[in-house]
Amino acid sequence: MTSLFDYSRIKKDDTIVVWFSCGAASAVAAYYIIKKYSNYCNIRIVNNPIAEEHIDNTRFLRDVEKWLNVKIEFATNPNFTDNSIQSVWTKKKFISDNKGGASCTLLLKKRSRQIWENNNQFQFLVMGFTAEEKHRAERFILEERENMIPILIDEGITKADCYKILKDNGLKLPKIYDLGFPNANCIGCCKATSPTYWNLVREKFPIDFNKRSEISRSLNVKLVRYKGKRIFLDELPIDAQGRKLKSMDIECGIFCEDRRKNRFQVKKSQKPAQIDKIQEIPSDLLIRQFPTSKGEQ
Ligand code: SF4
Repeated sequence: MTSLFDYSRIKKDDTIVVWFSCGAASAVAAYYIIKKYSNYCNIRIVNNPIAEEHIDNTRFLRDVEKWLNVKIEFATNPNFTDNSIQSVWTKKKFISDNKGGASCTLLLKKRSRQIWENNNQFQFLVMGFTAEEKHRAERFILEERENMIPILIDEGITKADCYKILKDNGLKLPKIYDLGFPNANCIGCCKATSPTYWNLVREKFPIDFNKRSEISRSLNVKLVRYKGKRIFLDELPIDAQGRKLKSMDIECGIFCEDRRKNRFQVKKSQKPAQIDKIQEIPSDLLIRQFPTSKGEQ
């Protein structure tokens, strides 16, 4: 299989940054990159902490540190010291638009990553794209970062393999997976529209459900889709079900890889360096480009 990446570009003492999300795939990506390059390169593992993630994500992060014998660094936004999605939504009076853009992603993930990158030198980065995500990785390399090492794809590691590798190495996945959630993202993610998801949040985390319900009602945002139309969370029937959560693929994203890519007016002819410049527009400017807080009707 031809790799999306030319490994001969990696030189001795280069720095490789692994963006670790507290999910299984990025943990295993860190494992492989350390296994292959720790004697040759400087490897740094960086996480964006978010207050609304399950508390057990922190336990998993510490377990991964012990497993890999590394200290995981944190990338944060100094304007939101509590790293809370609720704080972002409250302050910006904006949750998300109907094209997949969210103020929490922008200010707690992308902006934090930009700040970290502006203050740290590195040559390559690693994300947890798995073997079944080759097309996404291709798009990411083409449109976002040509210096991304698709380590899991090149090793042929699938999502299922990631779970097994962690288990075989004595690591317990974050508890949120055991509770039936498809990823280790925030509890009550504003990008989720599935009734199945939101009713699971309501069942397992009623306090968080009520918080999301109250703030989205106050900002007039209809987060859930039911019977073909958007409704407020507090309107969702308790027994409503949508598609199975296993197939739900919410990309929070510390980069701009999402359906909003046209917002940046990236042309295919642009080289990666030019694309980078476009992404470095301060997030506070980008947030003002969002439409006002109206839920999709
Ligand atoms: S996981 Fe969802 S709620 Fe959390 S930061 Fe990402 S988009 Fe926002």
